[in-house]
Amino acid sequence: MTVLANLEEIRSTIKRACDKVNRNEEDITVIGVTKYVTIKRTEEAIEAGINHLGENRLEGLLEKFTSIEDRANWHFIGSLQSRKVRDLIDKVDYIHSLDRKSLAKEINKRANRTIPCFVQVNVSGEESKHGLNLEDVPDFIDQLKNFSNIKVVGLMTMAPHVENEQLLRNTFKELRLMRDKINKQGLEHAPCSYLSMGMSNDYAIAIEEGATHVRIGSKLVGSND
Ligand SMILES: *Cc1c(COP(=O)(O)O)cnc(C)c1O
Repeated sequence: MTVLANLEEIRSTIKRACDKVNRNEEDITVIGVTKYVTIKRTEEAIEAGINHLGENRLEGLLEKFTSIEDRANWHFIGSLQSRKVRDLIDKVDYIHSLDRKSLAKEINKRANRTIPCFVQVNVSGEESKHGLNLEDVPDFIDQLKNFSNIKVVGLMTMAPHVENEQLLRNTFKELRLMRDKINKQGLEHAPCSYLSMGMSNDYAIAIEEGATHVRIGSKLVGSND
């Protein structure tokens, strides 16, 4: 399938999900996750109209960046080692995996501008997953107020790999409620208005539950060439 055909299908699914809950499809940002595919396929995504790209490894992002540069907004979506921040920081527009103070400190130190960050939350509490426990999010965000180069624009989660729709919904909903709670505090360093949640298999449900950013890889570009 061409990326364009996949994107058309995704857009109509997004429209249906939005219609169902009275949301505006323009409020949804599709991040094309290109970690599985080549530069050529990534170029095809850009031509199809994707202007947000996501990579989960520094090496992958740098490789694609060489070719795409500022034709896309770059989202770093993988777990991030502090020692890699220095090489990443000038390329990236958003970091989705802020989950510890030491990482915040490093981002703050290396950045020479404000970096919009999503705080990653492990809503389901699975041991294999990165991210803060839900109950630790408010304190963590409070601790970020002195890092002037960090702006918490939202929360991010990865849902468990399950078919159980109710479980997925609850996961997304819990993240939304936490987003609302932080957002209501009106913190200058943490407007926290976005929700990065939903991947190829669950983005429609995520949108029904409030996602503003969906991260779609295999359904958009395929999982290999
Ligand atoms: C790989 C990845 C995605 C995209 O996964 P698909 O199921 O292929 O859509 C989204 N978010 C993160 C953090 C990823 O690592």
